[in-house]
Amino acid sequence: AIKGNGRNGFAFFDPSMAAQADERHRLEVDFRAGLARGEFELYYQPLVEAGTRRLRAMEALVRWHHPDHGLVAPDRFIAMAEDTGLVGALGEWILQTACAEAASWPDDVKIAVNISPVQFRKTNLLDVIMCALVDSGLPPERLEIEITERVLLEWEAEHLSTLHQLKTLGIAIALDDFGTGYSSLSYLTAFPFDKLKIDRCFTRDLLARDDCGAIVCAIVNLGRSLDMVTVAEGVETETQLQLLRAAGVDQVQGFLVGRPAPAAELGITMARDGAAYVQA
Ligand code: C2E
Ligand code: MG
Ligand code: MG
Ligand code: MG
Repeated sequence: AIKGNGRNGFAFFDPSMAAQADERHRLEVDFRAGLARGEFELYYQPLVEAGTRRLRAMEALVRWHHPDHGLVAPDRFIAMAEDTGLVGALGEWILQTACAEAASWPDDVKIAVNISPVQFRKTNLLDVIMCALVDSGLPPERLEIEITERVLLEWEAEHLSTLHQLKTLGIAIALDDFGTGYSSLSYLTAFPFDKLKIDRCFTRDLLARDDCGAIVCAIVNLGRSLDMVTVAEGVETETQLQLLRAAGVDQVQGFLVGRPAPAAELGITMARDGAAYVQA
């Protein structure tokens, strides 16, 4: 379409948009090559019990070692991978790698894997997950998948049935970044989630804003009555941890407990009582 640009009549295209498309294309080419060359790596971040700091799970967070740009965070490439369908191949690698790694951890430490809505739509997620479990020998009870409300926004009956099948297998389903989407509460009646991950914006503003404390308390109560575990994301200070503990949050995750790190640096230790911990 021809659009008026106000200044000098009409322009057929916006050079900044062309530059963006160009960069996007280069990213896609690099990404395909990167997948083939094995430039991706999983980092893991601990989720611990708020009271005891006992290790309950590790969340797999993907990183890209780009030959020119160094370490690239997922926010820079997941959206492109979704638009191009490449997230299917990436997601398969992530599930395989995460489950294989987790098989070497203590039995009561789960692996949490983020699943993109596109993986529901464009791939046979159930098959991909089953293969990762069989190949690694990881029991389904030790896998937790994290989905955001975006999956539910694009809700299709098929997604719901996939989630139910995963749950029947013993895989736990967590709702990620909870509290930031639209009409979140109605989604909770659509599917029996095992876990609610309270978005880190609530943790961040806990001290500055009373209403954040009130929201956290409300989510904790909701979690309790619906039999869901609650997790606070983005815990960076001891004060935040104490406030969240007082609010009754079950688990915490954040830089205070551990930054995402490569598997070799995880430092999982077993205490005498058989519980697992991580070094902060
Ligand atoms: P998420 O699943 O909500 O992951 C948590 C993000 O918060 C991670 O960013 C993590 O590094 C960051 N974080 C953790 N603790 C703290 C803290 O105390 N303070 C602050 N400021 N940040 C903290 P990351 O690794 O950059 O990932 C960003 C998002 O990209 C993830 O959000 C997730 O939605 C997506 N993502 C990451 N890995 C994967 C993956 O393997 N597959 C898919 N589909 N998406 C992924
Ligand atoms: Mg997550
Ligand atoms: Mg999250
Ligand atoms: Mg988040």
